[in-house]
Parts: sequence; C-alpha cells; structure tokens
Amino acid sequence: MILRSGAGTAGPDESLLFTNHLFTGSVMPQVQLHVRLLEMSQHPVALIYAACRQCYSARFAGDLFDENEQNPQKQAEFIRKVVASGHESPLEHVTFTFAIEGVSRALTHQLVRHRIASFSQQSQRYVKETDFGYVVPPSIEQDEVSRAEFVRTMEMIQSSYHALLEAFKEKGKVGEQANQDVRFVLPQAAETKIVVTMNTRELIHFFHQRCCRRAQWEIKRLAEEMLKICRDKLPEVFADVAAKCDALGYCPEGENLSCGRRPLKEQALEKRVKGQT
Ligand SMILES: Cc1cc2nc3c(=O)[nH]c(=O)nc-3n(C[C@H](O)[C@H](O)[C@H](O)COP(=O)(O)OP(=O)(O)OC[C@H]3O[C@@H](n4cnc5c(N)ncnc54)[C@H](O)[C@@H]3O)c2cc1C
Repeated sequence: MILRSGAGTAGPDESLLFTNHLFTGSVMPQVQLHVRLLEMSQHPVALIYAACRQCYSARFAGDLFDENEQNPQKQAEFIRKVVASGHESPLEHVTFTFAIEGVSRALTHQLVRHRIASFSQQSQRYVKETDFGYVVPPSIEQDEVSRAEFVRTMEMIQSSYHALLEAFKEKGKVGEQANQDVRFVLPQAAETKIVVTMNTRELIHFFHQRCCRRAQWEIKRLAEEMLKICRDKLPEVFADVAAKCDALGYCPEGENLSCGRRPLKEQALEKRVKGQT
C-alpha cells in the first residue's frame, strides 16, 4: 500500500484512491503499483526470427524479416524453439520500455542492480518531496499498532523535511541546492517513479530471479505485473517464462532458502538417475 505524507494539506488528486488514515483520522490518498508499457519493438517476432536465421543463413536478414508477412506462424514456431533451446542472443534485439510508479525506493534500489537495463528515475534533487508518498509493507499494513507507528514515523520525517527546507531557505538555499541535502532524511518507503527499458533476454533473467518466491514481495509484485504485460504482447517468448525453478525443473537456492515448491538440485538429479522423471 502507498500513502502520501501530509495528505491533510495536499491538494486533491483524482488519479489517487483515498482511504482512511488510521493515525490522525484525516483522509490520506492511497496509490497502487502502476505499470504501463510505453513502447516495445514494433515487429518483435519478425525481428527475433531474422536475427536468429541470420546466424545460419546465406540470405540477407532484411529478406528474412519480410517473411513475417508471408508466414507469421512459421516465425512464431521458430522463435519458440529458439527460446527453448537457450539460443538467447537474438532475443536482445527486442526491447520493452515500462513506466512504473507507486513503488518504494527500497524496490528501485533492487531494480537498478539489473545492469543490462536502462533507467530514468524521478530525482529527489529536482523534485521536492514535501508531500512524499510512501509504501506500507502488507505485514505492517495488516497490524493496526504497527501501521500507526509506521505512519507516525512518516509524519515525523515529513515534518523534519519541512523544517530543514525552511532552515535552508533562511540561508538563501532553495530548489535543488536544498533538496539534494534535505532528501537524506527521506525513508526507503518513499514512493518513486521510474522508466525502465530491458531487452527480452534480460527480461527473462529478471523474471527468473524476481518471480521467485524468495524475491522480496514488492519487486516480486512488480515483476509479476511486467510479466503479465510481456505475456500478453509477446506470448511466443514469454508464455512459459516464470521463476527460474520452473525453467530449471529444480530449485537452485539450496535447502535453507528453498520454498519447497520444486525439488532441490540434488534431489532432482537423484530422481533422474533413478529414472523417475
Ligand atoms: C532473492 C534475492 C536476494 C538478493 N540478495 C542480495 C543481497 O543480499 N545483496 C546484494 O548485494 N544483492 C542481492 N541480490 C541482488 C543480486 O545479487 C543481483 O545483483 C541482482 O539480482 C541482479 O542480477 P544479475 O547480476 O544476475 O543480473 P543483471 O545485472 O540483470 O545481469 C544479467 C546477467 O548478465 C551477466 N552480467 C551482467 N554484468 C556482468 C558482469 N559485470 N560480469 C559478468 N557477467 C555479467 C550475468 O550473467 C547476469 O546474470 C539479491 C537478488 C535476489 C533475487
């Protein structure tokens, strides 16, 4: 859940949902995770097909690309086989760009660890965070006492943020000159917005890691939303993509970390040796 600090004084925003604010009794706006596909490669199937066939064909990829018009079914079948075979570099030519909002800085700190991606994130330097929104983890949301404590902390941070901005203002520092230092008091829960571009190969890797039950709940939720969009737009690649254990047929996380949904690697191997799979 995402709430906005100081919502009592914030102007109305019809794009936000409203919920009761347990701590002060005032009305707080609540926003949800929102993922929107901004752009993707225009002819993804033809592109992957042409790139892949170029590796083995004497023909020109430009002509192979045009075969899409004549036989889209053939291309779709071909790239399903390519994905299944693990010949993944042709997948790099197709990209997806997502706009993401309603997520915490804790989430984006994890997201930007994915290096084969491009990011443009809302700045806490150029954008003043006087009424910052924040994400409340479900475990805290569900417990009234914890939630009240959490909201109180957000309010305190907001109050400090305001006080520090004022102090900077008195010294003649405003805008980014103030924001860049005052942001140091903001929490990891603070809401952020980010644009992400990933190619198809990296997306598969991202989904393998972040749709896993071991992944942190917020980034898992984001990954699941992105995967839904990818499956809808490019089922030839994403129809069977899920957490890595589904691709591998076993859990590589080890005994202590495995959720138990799949056998451990050793167990899967043992089964195979005994001819059970
Ligand atoms: C459940 C979970 C827990 C985690 N816990 C922690 C943690 O406690 N601390 C922490 O720091 N991180 C943690 N991470 C983050 C993790 O270590 C990775 O940084 C992150 O998931 C990005 O994955 P990646 O490096 O495989 O992939 P990406 O950066 O998305 O790159 C994709 C692939 O490209 C290749 N690649 C990219 N860059 C290089 C390179 N420089 N050299 C060689 N190959 C490269 C690799 O094959 C890599 O898998 C966690 C991740 C998960 C899913």
